Amino acid sequence: MLIHEYQARDLFREYGIPVTEGKVFESLEGVEEYATELGQCVVKAQVHAGGRGKGGGVKFAPTVEKAIEHATNILGMQLITHQTTAEGCKVNKILLCPGLDIAKEYYLALTIDRATQCPFIIASTEGGMDIEEVAESTPEKITKIKVDPSAGCWAYHGRKVADALGFEGKQARIVAAVAQNLYKMFMEKDCSIVEINPLVVTEDNEIYAIDGKVNFDSNALYRQKDIVELRDPLEEEPLEVEASEHDLAYIKLDGNVACMVNGAGLAMATMDMIQISGGSPANFLDVGGTATPARVEQAFRILLKDPNVEGILINVFGGIVRCDLVAEGVIEAVKNIGNIEQPIVIRLSGTNSTEGKKLLAESDLTFETADSLNEAAAKIVAAVKK
Ligand code: ADP
Ligand code: MG
Repeated sequence: MLIHEYQARDLFREYGIPVTEGKVFESLEGVEEYATELGQCVVKAQVHAGGRGKGGGVKFAPTVEKAIEHATNILGMQLITHQTTAEGCKVNKILLCPGLDIAKEYYLALTIDRATQCPFIIASTEGGMDIEEVAESTPEKITKIKVDPSAGCWAYHGRKVADALGFEGKQARIVAAVAQNLYKMFMEKDCSIVEINPLVVTEDNEIYAIDGKVNFDSNALYRQKDIVELRDPLEEEPLEVEASEHDLAYIKLDGNVACMVNGAGLAMATMDMIQISGGSPANFLDVGGTATPARVEQAFRILLKDPNVEGILINVFGGIVRCDLVAEGVIEAVKNIGNIEQPIVIRLSGTNSTEGKKLLAESDLTFETADSLNEAAAKIVAAVKK
């Protein structure tokens, strides 16, 4: 789960990482007053995508007039960056904060390295808007420092970071503390990524985190109630928000074959088979181990809200769940929803699959069934091409 920059700054402040003041606006009301208070300031689009600077979503305003002009342009704009779709995303909020005279920009982040299963601090002297380019062409300019989570992040880790970034004296102590505090936040808040880009030194030698990107591990949100409060549904795919409210693991994709599967691994295999058979999956959906009629119906309703869906493939393996119950669920769901125009192919395998298939055959609804995953994928792809 992602949060906005202004929310990341609040967390940084809570963890003793230096940030400037700032205020969020959803309309122009109050912008003039706050810009007057700040003097030289920066107007920043608040969206869940990076690369805002290059897309015109971060503007420096030397005067109050300029601040109002930028705020007017950025609020409500369709911001296109390398991290958004081609249509971009709508800017509903802006952040106003002091415009700093920056002497140098650095990069500092923390994430999990899957190979070593450890958090890594990533630091670079080449912070700013071209960090992706630095990672690509001069990776030696990026330092990675492993932290063993069972031992924690110690002062020497902090010193290594300050050293890698070339800081000395008081500034080195501040940067070392920033790295240690960032680690504390990363662990305590169950983050998957915390990134400060850039961490800056100003002309008068002050250090500030002026941009923050924080991503949280969705599987840990049950114990991060304060973080869940920060969720901004306007920034997320509406169908995914709806699915998460029903505890369904759903990711929208851009194909036309919807799939409903139990188990994440089987769902991945199903999407692969659709692709191999010449089709294109419209979504990932794991209904979970308890494919009850209510869940199946809810899943159907979400799948059908995607206007690109031209066919539905249901692939259920009866391990814990019984196939006859799933068949009952599907029949009931289709009856309740009514008028499903798209072709449906069902593959049931495992516990009570014979009973399940019999129920489907005896129902007066029109399904195609399949015995293998290959056959199911081929049938649904053929059906949507008709
Ligand atoms: P993004 O990473 O989405 O492009 P940033 O917040 O990192 O957005 O801003 C992009 C660039 O704008 C920064 O690298 C920095 O050069 C400049 N910038 C951002 N905030 C300020 C500020 N408060 N004062 C001066 N320059 C800023
Ligand atoms: Mg940035």
